[in-house]
Amino acid sequence: MKRYLLFLFLLPVVTGFSQPEIYPPHWWAGMKTNTIQVMIYGKDVGVGKPAVSLKHAGVTITKVHYVENPNYLFVDLTISPKASAGKFDITIRQGNPVTIPYTLKPKRTGNGTTYAQGVTSSDFIYLLMPDRFSNGDPANDRIAGMRDQSLDRDSIFHRHGGDLQGAINHLDYLNDLGVTALWMMPVIENDMPDRSEHGYAFTNHYKIEPRLGGGEAYKKLGYELHRRGMKLIQDAVYNHVGLYHFTVQDKPMADWLHEWPKYTNTSYKDQTLFDPHAVPGETKIMSDGWFTPMMPDLNHHNPYVANYLIQHAIWCVEEFGVDGFRIDTYAYNDLEFMNRCNKALLDEYPKLSLFGETWVHGVINQAFFCENNLNIPFKSNLQATTDFQTLFYGIQPAVNEKFGWTDGVNKLYQTLSNDLIYKDPMRQVIFLDNHDLSRFFSVVGEDVKKVKVGFTWLLTCRGIPQMYYGGEILMKGITNPDGWVRLDFPGGWPGDKVNKFTEAGRTPEEQEVYTLIKTLANFRKQSSALKTGKFMHYLPVDGLYVYFRYDTNQTIMCIMNTNDKEMDVDFSKYTERATGFTKANNVLTGESMSTSTAFKIQPMSMTVLELKK
Ligand code: CA
Repeated sequence: MKRYLLFLFLLPVVTGFSQPEIYPPHWWAGMKTNTIQVMIYGKDVGVGKPAVSLKHAGVTITKVHYVENPNYLFVDLTISPKASAGKFDITIRQGNPVTIPYTLKPKRTGNGTTYAQGVTSSDFIYLLMPDRFSNGDPANDRIAGMRDQSLDRDSIFHRHGGDLQGAINHLDYLNDLGVTALWMMPVIENDMPDRSEHGYAFTNHYKIEPRLGGGEAYKKLGYELHRRGMKLIQDAVYNHVGLYHFTVQDKPMADWLHEWPKYTNTSYKDQTLFDPHAVPGETKIMSDGWFTPMMPDLNHHNPYVANYLIQHAIWCVEEFGVDGFRIDTYAYNDLEFMNRCNKALLDEYPKLSLFGETWVHGVINQAFFCENNLNIPFKSNLQATTDFQTLFYGIQPAVNEKFGWTDGVNKLYQTLSNDLIYKDPMRQVIFLDNHDLSRFFSVVGEDVKKVKVGFTWLLTCRGIPQMYYGGEILMKGITNPDGWVRLDFPGGWPGDKVNKFTEAGRTPEEQEVYTLIKTLANFRKQSSALKTGKFMHYLPVDGLYVYFRYDTNQTIMCIMNTNDKEMDVDFSKYTERATGFTKANNVLTGESMSTSTAFKIQPMSMTVLELKK
């Protein structure tokens, strides 16, 4: 990474006269967020501190900020609730006045679809990597002028050509599978010289990655999701940008980024943020150190940075119809800034969902970053997190470890018993794997029985279930390195020899897992107990773990046998929840049985029963 010398920061990118850029490129009439700060960026646009004016009823300039770098102007606009939608010019009074067209658009009415509706425990999230899921438009695989011209499906770190049209083409497939919400790794421009495929190094917030199809394709995806009653989750990154972001290459001011006398990486140690024994300097390294040398750390204490990021998040909801955000690298952000950002989004869109990535180890570590019951000075307003605890200290040991006092499925029981720390555990996003983790099929030693237990747990436990693309067709991969868990979905590219989007392309084992997910996810859509019901679990005994999801209308009994031998399940042991029922319908097989006698559950398997009177 040393080859990217830091003097690049000093090279101005803007040369010669060109029409200045303006961000956000438009706003809307009738928004609650009615004071915005537009960034105007163009060669020498701020030289001589020019006056800035505009003429549109209800819109006023409250302040013009002249900053250290004359290529930038920041202009505060106040938009009266009475201002109507329309076009106007923002004029910069220089020798030759520069006019920048601006628009207040009418707010999105939805065109028969809704948006900003939130993602809840009634949903089932599918996470995919747009470059690797499906190539719906080979014409955009390479874009002339962009820094990364790699295109090589044989390399895990080069671009493969997948795009948003590829996702659109498979929305019926996902809908059929029972998926209700789509989360994609970031879709914002990553004009980086290499490793641009993952999307986490933004170079222009207001540009959707052209190799994914650009803003029009993204709008179309939002529309196509909503038309099917599905939801759009955007992957937000506030902590850092790509080294080639225009605000890094030509910084508006000296303190735009957290810069250190000598390159300083974050320690990745979240403990330093809440540990009562922490060394203050170590807290600063965690928050203000760079995520990688290619991803500079933004200074959230700089008010221009904060405004830029918050406005962009709101802009995306209105522009693309976002229903929820997954927030990348949550622990590395300035947490007071994040509270402000979350609040601004929720003030504008009260039903929006926000969940943060917390790749941490420990329930307290995780709960610190979201709404919790801890009596501590810092109170996060984040609704929930990606629940790494029920993965690492839950389902993984449940199927991989031998049962013991503190081992095996007792770890899952133990972790869920700590839910008292969360304000709302039902908002936690649970998962078996994601784009940064070894695939579950590989983690369980390619044991299909264990994968089936995993998915059955995922779709019946408390929280919002999220699966990673390819789990349904037993894709494998160990993060050594992470490119191996980001392989192409077979059948997603024109000319692929195998197409696993169709039954004909799947092996019997893959079909078995696909069918299990499809059956359970579609059952779940109609199941009030699994979507919003309470959770009650019994102490695991001899590797047998029994929990219930229930409400006044429905009781679902879930039995996980983590043993390598058959076990008896006796309904009379679960009187608190099973009393009053006489029949049990197997949700996966459709078989019915009486609750008056015990039944046998197969080794390493899970049974889901709907109890009936
Ligand atoms: Ca493409």
